[in-house]
Amino acid sequence: MKCPVCGNDCVESAHELIDKMVEIFAPCSGCKSRTLPKDTPLKEFYYGTCDCGKRFIDEVFAHLYVIMVEEGDLADTDPLKKVGYPLIHPGFALASAPHLPSKSLVLLSPIVSLPTAERIIREVPEVKGVVKCGNFVPGAIDVDLTQTPQTYELLAGCDVRADIFYTSTHPVITYKQQSKLHIEFPRGYDPKIISVGAHILRKMPKVFVDANCGAGTLGILGGMLGVPHVVLNDAWYAAAFWSAFNLSVNKEYLLVEGDVRFFESYEQLERHPVARDPVKIAEITGNQILEVYQGDFRRLHTVLPREGSILAVLDLFEKGDREFDTRIQAEWKAQVGGDVFIP
Ligand SMILES: [Zn+2]
Ligand SMILES: [Zn+2]
Repeated sequence: MKCPVCGNDCVESAHELIDKMVEIFAPCSGCKSRTLPKDTPLKEFYYGTCDCGKRFIDEVFAHLYVIMVEEGDLADTDPLKKVGYPLIHPGFALASAPHLPSKSLVLLSPIVSLPTAERIIREVPEVKGVVKCGNFVPGAIDVDLTQTPQTYELLAGCDVRADIFYTSTHPVITYKQQSKLHIEFPRGYDPKIISVGAHILRKMPKVFVDANCGAGTLGILGGMLGVPHVVLNDAWYAAAFWSAFNLSVNKEYLLVEGDVRFFESYEQLERHPVARDPVKIAEITGNQILEVYQGDFRRLHTVLPREGSILAVLDLFEKGDREFDTRIQAEWKAQVGGDVFIP
């Protein structure tokens, strides 16, 4: 599949990623696994990439540190950890620190400059994208949609990466552009996913609504568990787009035919980053129907099907107090009916 951000081959289907999981970050017998102290400046040289094409994450960070010192982004008295935050691709819970193959790391750093980012992409093969991050959550959207969410800035390379979430059925793969969506790294056991899966299996509704879908994990889970009609929705364009994209990535585990029909491109959606009245941006059909809307979940009742039992999950970014949760759920029930819960 073509990557919608860089146009290259960043994107693989769900089974291709799952098949690689055992091997992708494993060392060969010649790989070095030297753990470096993170709270002190780097004192030693770094090792280059092993003949097998991988390098231990600490050596990659040492390489990044040296570049950032040479470029003046870091002082040589700064600790190694000041380089930034690693997000591996694909992301899944690991038993030990990874040996990184080519283009398997998105670097998030609050201090990296543009020339440094460009040099990193030229010189550090393990890095696929460099993102300048800030002290906020990208794509975080308030319930009343009063503010346009902030995003991080992709400086060089491509910041599209996947996370692999275990569920009670197939793993769900969610790709995302990391500068535009909040980080949700799989922990191996994700209580929200387990609880939503259990709710769906208990109710087995005709319609499952993932009303604040982010990258689409919960809605796709509903599809994999066999709900006939799934509606995913998010007011933030990047969330709506990547949810639709992820339907395509995971479609081999859904009862659908053909491919996802997109009604708007990523670039078109970016022109209306936050939407109130829900607009369908994509769908895939077959023995199941999965639709993606961009809109305010509190207006979603205007487009939802009325074809029997409905179960909705309101995965609000702002976790309110109990009174707030009760009010939001009561509002939903008054307009839509059915079952609703906040995970
Ligand atoms: Zn890409
Ligand atoms: Zn090796």
